Amino acid sequence: MHPFVDNLSDEQKGKLRIFCELLQRENAVHNLTAINESGQIWLRHFADSLAAAEYIENHVKAVSPAIIDIGSGAGFPCLPVAIAKPYWRITSVDSTGKKINFQRMIVRQLGLQNVEIINGRAEELAHKPSLREKFDFAAARAFANLAITAEAGLGFVRLGGELLAWKSSNIAAELAEAQNIIGELGGRTLEIFNYSLAERNFVIVPIQKIAATPKKYPRAWGKIKR
Ligand code: SAH
Repeated sequence: MHPFVDNLSDEQKGKLRIFCELLQRENAVHNLTAINESGQIWLRHFADSLAAAEYIENHVKAVSPAIIDIGSGAGFPCLPVAIAKPYWRITSVDSTGKKINFQRMIVRQLGLQNVEIINGRAEELAHKPSLREKFDFAAARAFANLAITAEAGLGFVRLGGELLAWKSSNIAAELAEAQNIIGELGGRTLEIFNYSLAERNFVIVPIQKIAATPKKYPRAWGKIKR
């Protein structure tokens, strides 16, 4: 299938198989994701989510890094990562109740012990003292452009930690446009992580926090988008 999933244990693959079936079943009722064929779910959702595990494992010394997924939808990347890395501490945030309910059902069905799920808006939660600058990594896949993602996500990241943004591979213009706000938020862009899925190239853009994010960030959603 793909090295990111081939390396999992049989038990972990079994959990992903159940996750895949439940996602397909739920998709038939409430549309949760555009991708619904099992091979595509394994590749485009599971393997793609596990690119994060690959990156994080090579860039962090901590045994149990804390990771927050913002705008996690049906659970990507957070739930495949939680399955693959039971000792990592995963927090999942999404503003849409039906997606959060689906994730809660998956966590219960699979007995995942390392996931906390929060129904809320990233730009509000990032001001909560219990969540602000508390994470080694923040992850955002298919969330928003890089500038918006940086503002919504960097508040959660501790000094020295990283925000990881999933992107298709032509990101030069988006990256250039986001440089000012990334600096203003206390971040700097690190070397881009490249990987491929079925011969298509993708990237994860890591933004490291090198200075505290000023208290006024993130702003309200309407302001961020402007
Ligand atoms: N990460 C998932 C879902 C991407 S779709 C995946 O890769 O498949 C984007 C998700 O972000 C949606 O589920 C939407 O509900 C959520 N979202 C949008 N704005 C948000 C915000 N400000 N705070 C939290 N979640 C948000």
